[in-house]
Amino acid sequence: MSLHSQTIDSFELARASRQIDGWVNVADLLRLSSLLADSSGALHYRVTGVADVEGEPGAQLQLTGLLRLTCQRCNEPLEFQLDRAVLFRFMASEEALNALPIEEDEIDAVVGSRMMNVRDWIEDEAMLSLPLVARHDECLAAHSTQDFDPVKVANPFAALSAMRDARNDDKSKT
Ligand SMILES: [Zn+2]
Repeated sequence: MSLHSQTIDSFELARASRQIDGWVNVADLLRLSSLLADSSGALHYRVTGVADVEGEPGAQLQLTGLLRLTCQRCNEPLEFQLDRAVLFRFMASEEALNALPIEEDEIDAVVGSRMMNVRDWIEDEAMLSLPLVARHDECLAAHSTQDFDPVKVANPFAALSAMRDARNDDKSKT
């Protein structure tokens, strides 16, 4: 099945503790691809419904795959191993989501739906998993000794920061 059109009934998936899994091409995730040096490869996802996550229906989302970033220091390719497992709870509405306390580090929350778009959810989570500043631990390129000034380097993650801020702002509303 193409993930382009795949939707799940998130509440039914949680209630039945159903599991779905599959692959999505990185190149099909346009917002994510715009942050990458190279959009080759694919991400593997597994969604496992959980009937009760602190009183709400929820699911565990697991994402694995190799993403190709650009080192912000030496501009050489940098491979990032995405390996993320997050427990979500599905909220009934935007209002319910916004009413949650801001600090929910262990469990994330999204608005559930009877027609939840799996690809958008995966893409959001993959974007939030990227390092804020991608850098090699030790740059091997010969020109890596040049001065690194993060202020002068265009920051492709600005959009991502804005997204994080927006998410926190949403939660802070009452
Ligand atoms: Zn580097």
